[in-house]
Amino acid sequence: MRTIQAYRFALDVTPSQERMLLASAGAARVAHNWALTRVKAVMNQRAAERSYGIPDVELTSAIGWTLPALRKAWNAAKADVAPWWPQVSKEAFNTGLDALARGLKNWSDSRTGGRAGRPVGFPRFKSRRRTTPSVRFTTGAIRVEPDRKHVILPRLGRLKTHESTRKLARRLEAGSARILSATVRKCGGRWHVAFCVEVDRVERTPARPQAVVGVDVGVRCLAVLSTGGVEPNPRHLDHAMRRLRKLARRMSRRVGPDRSSGQRPSNRWESTRLQLMRANARVANLRRDGLHKLTTRIASEYGTVVVEDLNVAGMLRNRRLARHIADAGFGELRRQLEYKTAWNGGRLLVADRWYPSSKRCSACGTVKAKLSLSERTYNCTCCGLELDRDRNAARNLAALAREVDTAGSGPVAGRGADCKTRPSGQVAEKRQPGTTELVRPGPSRRKAGLHERNLMQRNVSG
Ligand SMILES: [Zn+2]
Repeated sequence: MRTIQAYRFALDVTPSQERMLLASAGAARVAHNWALTRVKAVMNQRAAERSYGIPDVELTSAIGWTLPALRKAWNAAKADVAPWWPQVSKEAFNTGLDALARGLKNWSDSRTGGRAGRPVGFPRFKSRRRTTPSVRFTTGAIRVEPDRKHVILPRLGRLKTHESTRKLARRLEAGSARILSATVRKCGGRWHVAFCVEVDRVERTPARPQAVVGVDVGVRCLAVLSTGGVEPNPRHLDHAMRRLRKLARRMSRRVGPDRSSGQRPSNRWESTRLQLMRANARVANLRRDGLHKLTTRIASEYGTVVVEDLNVAGMLRNRRLARHIADAGFGELRRQLEYKTAWNGGRLLVADRWYPSSKRCSACGTVKAKLSLSERTYNCTCCGLELDRDRNAARNLAALAREVDTAGSGPVAGRGADCKTRPSGQVAEKRQPGTTELVRPGPSRRKAGLHERNLMQRNVSG
């Protein structure tokens, strides 16, 4: 099984290496901003000429938006724009131009309806202050040293890694991996290198290929498994909040930068800022670590994993819940389960967003009309079942897998399933391979009162 995956290592860079990295990241930004200025100028010029009634053939010629076209334009102009260009790797400029080419493509695809999701805005200029310093190398000497403590990158030479590169080095030595590119970026006050690697993974099977598990994710408990396991929510952000508040307060009391008066930030402000960044990065690291351990455990054990299709973006709009939901990392959990089940030879089923997993009785199948969030135990009025609310939901999800297997058509929906009437026209939508056709109720079905599409309806209708 051939996949693309990333290996990321923290770096310990020397001051001179850091200067070189920042120079490369700055060069990427310069090339990006220069090309964006050119693109905008040409667009405005053409729009102005059109408004004068000049025919299309006589307009100022358009500038190409693809990476090769932008690179050609940059190479023709770099001697004037950036006479210092030989000092940094050409890959640095390529990084900035590639980002712009992608941004322009996403914007134009989004405008013409060729792209799913929310509308994409026009690319903006990169700021020295706000942009994450980053540079990507796609050609040249990109190696992992056999001592497993260093990596080699073009122009930068040997960089010491903070941790062992054993996992990647082993694969490279065995010939089951090929490095495609390396990106160096600074996040959380520390430099990291991420290798984009094509990996030949051995085919694996889960420990229990026939076993089915329903996973109900929530804020109270991060995950409740239908088999009985409960993963508590570690709430890393809540625990770090006191320290984060303290640092933010301290920073606000120190002399920060002020662009209107030209005030430079004090050293004490800078050091507090670094502390705050580290504290935030630590929260993210803890969260990532916990999620990876959980999803690896689930995906390596069960043959079928069933999760709910949660509207995470929508829930994040609830300002009383947003912080807790973002801290739990629902979206990331689902993303990791998706690829890890594929790697382990299992499968992930995603229940329809409107499947009543919480309101349904997992014993007799009765669906309650109402179930408030405060009811922590599910009490069935039909069969008298008394069960923890989340466990009941997890068991319903697991039961869904059996229905899929017997009915042959599933409640597995593509991402972005939506019961609301779309404002206009068809919207492109990403669908997982092997899923059934999504039955989308049109306005007429909505009027008929079919708000809740559940599995029964779907099997009848198609
Ligand atoms: Zn019941």
